[in-house]
Amino acid sequence: MIGGGEGSQIGFTHRAGAELDRKFTLKAGAFDIDPKRSNEFGRRLGLESSRSYGSWREMLAAETQRPERLDLITVATPNATHFEISKAFVQAGFHVFCEKPLTITPETAAALVKVSAESNRICAVNFGYTGYPLVRQMRAMVLNGELGNVRLVKAEFAAGFLANAAIDENPRVRWRFDPDQAGDSCVMADMGSHAMHLATFVTGRRICRLSADFAYGVASRQLEDDALVAFRMEGEIIGRLWVSGLALGRTHGLALQVFGEKGGLIWQQEYPDQLKWTPLGGPTQILERGSSSLSDSAKSASRIAEGHPEGMVLAFANLYRSISELISRDTNSPMIGYKISDLPNAEEGRHMVDVVCAAARSSHEGSRWLDVSEQN
Ligand code: NAD
Repeated sequence: MIGGGEGSQIGFTHRAGAELDRKFTLKAGAFDIDPKRSNEFGRRLGLESSRSYGSWREMLAAETQRPERLDLITVATPNATHFEISKAFVQAGFHVFCEKPLTITPETAAALVKVSAESNRICAVNFGYTGYPLVRQMRAMVLNGELGNVRLVKAEFAAGFLANAAIDENPRVRWRFDPDQAGDSCVMADMGSHAMHLATFVTGRRICRLSADFAYGVASRQLEDDALVAFRMEGEIIGRLWVSGLALGRTHGLALQVFGEKGGLIWQQEYPDQLKWTPLGGPTQILERGSSSLSDSAKSASRIAEGHPEGMVLAFANLYRSISELISRDTNSPMIGYKISDLPNAEEGRHMVDVVCAAARSSHEGSRWLDVSEQN
């Protein structure tokens, strides 16, 4: 693991999710930007001291020399570092599971896709919410035609964790508003990319064009803390996204609503074990995770009996399980080309980088409608 040091937001969830099915064991890491903290934290996690590194470069050099290769490198560092770290490990022959956003520019995202294909190494992207069973149920229902033609997608990711301007002094938040470390966007990249990716995952359609309005609730911030995006997907699906860090009282309000000719679905991450389904002319039903009536894809993603809460660690575990299956099949073909599968690949990561950068550009150009593909 690279990044994910002590106190980081996402490190624990990766370590717990990766180890859940006993397919992966944490063996080595460079967890922190501070070499001493990195070494110490690795030892506290139980690593051999020789494999608890002070930096990712040190780890790359040493691990490349070992006769037994690490199976997978998880990259959970701030956004601007993803490209350099992932590229270096992929080129050295390691499979990589990189946090979102894959990179911070369309050019580097395209370069990483190319390197991954040329090296025949996995470069998966952690759009971890795709691991939730009921997100997979939504996708199955859309693909089975239960909604008919999808007309409208409403994506939302609202939380209040950036409402207090004083939090910008916290190093865990500071980098998110620094363009050198976060790229052209704060909440759109951090939260909006998840919501937009879910829209593509559930509908199987890409985002074609968009118009964005980035806003600054705290005026001193260099990057946006609220954004509204109108978009269109393949098949002329209408898209609406609201993303905000200012929404006090919302905790982790990722939600996706999909409306078709024959029915509508609503899923909220804060209540991940329930999916609301309203068929045209019928009453609203609540589909429960773990129920035997769900699709095979939802059932296979669910591990604990109905009524007992699952959650984010198990969602991440589903992606790690897919990675381990792919590695043991010794073929990386599902990772090449844009195809939406249970394991988001580098092309999907690249598409979301294009979406985030298009949104930033649109907002800076007076909310002009832009083709997402113009970013390349
Ligand atoms: P954080 O600031 O809480 O933690 C970042 C960690 O990386 C820290 O331990 C820091 O010391 C370490 N680090 C920084 N630079 C490093 C380097 N060069 N080498 C090694 N370690 C380094 O950030 P976070 O919220 O955990 O976010 C990390 C990444 O994960 C970001 O890209 C973010 O977008 C992503 N993220 C994804 C999800 C998800 O649900 N998929 C959720 C949160 C964060």
